[in-house]
Amino acid sequence: MSTLEQATARFAERDIVLVGEEGDGTIFLACPADGVDASRLARLHELGRGMVVLGLPEPVARRLALPAPWRGAGPPGELALTAPIDATAGIEGGWSLEDRALTMRVAADPDSRSSDLTIPGHVYPALVGEPPEHGPSAALELARLSGRAPAVALCAVLDRRGRAASLRDARADERFRRLPVAPAAELRSGWITRHAGELSISCSLPTRGAAFRAVGYAPAADDPPTVALVHGDPASCESPLVHVHVGCLFGDAFGSLLCDCRSRLDHATSEIARAGAGVIIYAKPKQPTPIACVRDEPIDAASVAGLLRAVGVSELRLVAGGRHERLSDELRGCGLTVAR
Ligand SMILES: [Zn+2]
Repeated sequence: MSTLEQATARFAERDIVLVGEEGDGTIFLACPADGVDASRLARLHELGRGMVVLGLPEPVARRLALPAPWRGAGPPGELALTAPIDATAGIEGGWSLEDRALTMRVAADPDSRSSDLTIPGHVYPALVGEPPEHGPSAALELARLSGRAPAVALCAVLDRRGRAASLRDARADERFRRLPVAPAAELRSGWITRHAGELSISCSLPTRGAAFRAVGYAPAADDPPTVALVHGDPASCESPLVHVHVGCLFGDAFGSLLCDCRSRLDHATSEIARAGAGVIIYAKPKQPTPIACVRDEPIDAASVAGLLRAVGVSELRLVAGGRHERLSDELRGCGLTVAR
């Protein structure tokens, strides 16, 4: 069972899981809000040390007529909090963990309406968007995968000094040893796989080297697209050839001899044509860079993995050459099988 499968199974059973990935400034503990009770809230407080909030997607917030957040979410880990709520019926004062758990369950109930909640109250809802970029949105994706209602009790993890803890800090902490970790990168790539069909464009693209089907995917209008060039039927191969190419203006468009990007692209095209099937992923670096060769810049591996899975590739081997070690690890972290 993979790490994600374990986390999904535990979450379905209303267990607390850690959500996040290396590099996140803040990681979160999460459990399904539709199954939260006083003892789980107490455990979240005890383990996480941070503030416990209720993560909701925007459609649920709209159904409950929650006010717009005071400000949008900033960097990953910051939450877009809206006005605190209480359940309209069944609570006594609102402060106790029993009362707050009941309020969360009422807000998570798909049949609840705005009249079932009062404002102000004692539970802070946080609006959580898509795609799953960080812990809170990954927790909502985990709720969907595990068949729970789209609502999560969230607690930021703090260290003994009250500072935001990283995944590495949490892994070193004995108290978290038995908690499953839901990998945000894999949850994000799964989300992209599901949505690539709705959001991507696809057309045939004959080139000098081979005939491709081009599938472009961008999660939002102002995001740089990731493009998959699909040759043949890679889904029918056991481990089709894949080349992940970081777009290089001078190399790819002008054939610059200052780097080997163009020759690597040509080599990958001929290898894939010879194999009869395969995929070239044309990715943009994570950070905008000056006009220069960017072949060694970090890329969004979750987008690459999500798009590969969307075109039918979950096991692959990389075309020889290039920075395979890091890329292979990143793709494996998103749930793909990469031949060694
Ligand atoms: Zn280059």
